[in-house]
Amino acid sequence: MSITLRNVRKDYDAQTDVLEDISVKVETGEFFVIVGPSGCGKSTLLRMIAGLTPITAGEVSIDDKVVNDLPPKARKLTMVFQNYALFPFMSVWDNVAFGLKARKMDQSDIKQRVDKALKMVDLTELGKRKPRELSGGQRQRVALARAVASDAKICLMDEPLSNLDAQHRIKMRQEIYALQRKLGLTLIYVTHDQVEAMTMADHI
Ligand code: ADP
Repeated sequence: MSITLRNVRKDYDAQTDVLEDISVKVETGEFFVIVGPSGCGKSTLLRMIAGLTPITAGEVSIDDKVVNDLPPKARKLTMVFQNYALFPFMSVWDNVAFGLKARKMDQSDIKQRVDKALKMVDLTELGKRKPRELSGGQRQRVALARAVASDAKICLMDEPLSNLDAQHRIKMRQEIYALQRKLGLTLIYVTHDQVEAMTMADHI
């Protein structure tokens, strides 16, 4: 699925435009990176694509359909954020299954998807653990597994690796890149790290 922004503008108050006039097309299956210093409006842009923040002017389209007025749920995308927002009292497995259960998906279908997603991020053995019993990198992989299980074709990631140490960051970069390719995801990835942007992006 592709995403098109046409003359998108955002101000949180009348005095300051955070984003003035953004137009870009993100192609299907593209690894698209938004890079820039802290405060320049990266998260705002991502949140507008997700539907979590209303846009002031312009158009956001998914596959040529304008989605300005669609709520996040109806946009068929998944998100992975910086502070991974796992439910602390749920097991890894239940965390990954949560969104699917909320969508009232069939039990056997849920099981199949969760198992497959955990396998893909190499967490099959840790399904019964609670988030606090995991390392930062493992927690981040749970968040990724959730995105994988959802089967959405668009994934939004906001600085997903910024809580990790250098070693895990490099490893996870490779894993995200490989997953994106394998699943053919249209991935929009926010970072302030220029090296990350240069090494991962098809389009910056
Ligand atoms: P980045 O992700 O690049 O660090 P943000 O999109 O978070 O930047 O923020 C861009 C600008 O918008 C900043 O000046 C920030 O203070 C401001 N901003 C972000 N969210 C809000 C909000 N909910 N209300 C008012 N101003 C905001």
